Amino acid sequence: MKYKFIALLLISPMVFSSTQLIILGSGTPNPDPERAGSSYAVLTNGVPYLVDFGPGIIRKAASLSPEWGGQINGMNVINFEHAFLTHIHSDHSMGLSDLLLTPWIMGREKKLKLFGPAGLKGMAQSIVKAYKQDINYRIHGTQPANKTGYMYEFTKLKEGLVYQDENIEVEAFKVSHGDFNDAFGFRFTSTDKVIVFSGDTGPSKTLERYAAGADILVHEVYSHAGFLKKTKAWQKYHKAHHTSTFEIGKIAQRIKPNLLILSHILFWGSSPDEILQEVKSVYDGNVVIANDLMVINSDREMRDYKEILDDLYDKNDSDPEWKKKALVEAFNGRSSG
Ligand SMILES: [Zn+2]
Ligand SMILES: [Zn+2]
Repeated sequence: MKYKFIALLLISPMVFSSTQLIILGSGTPNPDPERAGSSYAVLTNGVPYLVDFGPGIIRKAASLSPEWGGQINGMNVINFEHAFLTHIHSDHSMGLSDLLLTPWIMGREKKLKLFGPAGLKGMAQSIVKAYKQDINYRIHGTQPANKTGYMYEFTKLKEGLVYQDENIEVEAFKVSHGDFNDAFGFRFTSTDKVIVFSGDTGPSKTLERYAAGADILVHEVYSHAGFLKKTKAWQKYHKAHHTSTFEIGKIAQRIKPNLLILSHILFWGSSPDEILQEVKSVYDGNVVIANDLMVINSDREMRDYKEILDDLYDKNDSDPEWKKKALVEAFNGRSSG
């Protein structure tokens, strides 16, 4: 068996600390088949906390779960009980119907705890209303469905501490997303890590304050080279709503996170390497480009499962047992390639 095992900066032996960051969707509104809409999971003590739920979130997560050949039990969607939304732009929130309904159909009984800007409440209400017939049929028909797991408890975000339990503390902060007032970033503090998510934002001093001392900063970015090719009107729009490679480089140089992860990237024709080069021209710390299904344990331990899965699927092997065995080996870190 020969497949490429990609382990970025993998150290040996693997020492898994308790909090992992999982990239479920590194995309933007562009329907790139390789990049689902914005979504991440912070997994600590086996409990997943979701940040954003862009289109594709549920299938991407499932592909890492044992039910579908993966090895991360927290990515069994039935475990999705907490979700935090940065802002209601569709590329960050279109997976909400999937997140409300699919884990329930799979057996989730608890209500989903939803944290987000005011608009999220109406969105969740409308989705439940839109699927009333489906929900009623499952509950009142012959399907053995519980009566609670599609429901949600909504908490409106405000700046400061918005959630706390024995695993995690979540702080929200306002970011600068053009005239989009209700846009937030998050700072997650677990027992062993601080992970900060920028959400969608232009350069933000508030973010810099909240990201101080972060182990991992997940930040959005656009290509500077691509920006130069845009019309004046688009340049004005993007400058107000998003952050360029040079801008995030300078911000990261001030914050000095252990690891900067670039996600929600507007490539505009640039390659991932060109994006990295622009950032590195003004930033000398650790920086990587996010891929869907990347699992990050620390700045020195991360695995890009997408590459593993792509290689396996490229083989076009129709034997599901072989594929499952290969996946287990890949997840266990063994490579015979
Ligand atoms: Zn976005
Ligand atoms: Zn946005």
